[in-house]
Amino acid sequence: MLRLHDVEVTYSNGVVGLKPTSLTFERRAFTVLLGLSGAGKSTLLRSLNHLVTPTSGSVEVDGIKRLEETDNLRKHRRQTAMIFQQHQLIGRYTCLQNVLVGRLGHYSMWRTLLPFGELDRRLSLDCLDRVGLLSRALQRVYNLSGGQQQRVGIARAIAQQPNLILADEPVASLDPETAYRVLGMLHEITKQDEIPTIVSLHQVDLAKAFAD
Ligand code: ADP
Repeated sequence: MLRLHDVEVTYSNGVVGLKPTSLTFERRAFTVLLGLSGAGKSTLLRSLNHLVTPTSGSVEVDGIKRLEETDNLRKHRRQTAMIFQQHQLIGRYTCLQNVLVGRLGHYSMWRTLLPFGELDRRLSLDCLDRVGLLSRALQRVYNLSGGQQQRVGIARAIAQQPNLILADEPVASLDPETAYRVLGMLHEITKQDEIPTIVSLHQVDLAKAFAD
């Protein structure tokens, strides 16, 4: 369960990104934040893991009441995967390497200096298989289409085995048909894995990709 208590965001230039908002996101739910550009979807989504720090109010996550404390925030972020509009993948890395990045949060700093083990590789290959990209595992990401890159983004997110996925306009840069397929895939996989997911979207017509 994720709860916003009167969260308000005013950016340093004085623009109000989010008016005071109280909301509860239930566990297991798949939630779509639908609204016009500039409505504050991204601000709301990013405030859920303090990528944008609320000016006032608080975010409560499964009993972690004070997200502003560093340890609490670190724990919450480790359990939260993000999918961004521009993928945030490393273009010169292979698909597999990018998905393995999703595993990093499971290890301490010194362990991240060592090569990934077989279990991590198997899990990552399985995630690529689930998004239909197993055969591309060893290809560099910059050789893929936008839709394929976003599928790698989904694979990386699920490889993290998160308790929550936040997807910020994940298909805004894709053509409508590809966007529809990628959203459907995200919906299907997160439903199978019972991962609560919050997606921001400004295209009303695409929301039907989530219809059960
Ligand atoms: P949406 O995701 O619905 O398009 P945003 O949350 O990105 O909306 O933006 C909400 C408002 O906050 C807009 O007026 C936008 O211009 C403003 N805004 C967003 N990010 C910043 C920022 N980093 N600095 C200043 N203003 C911002």
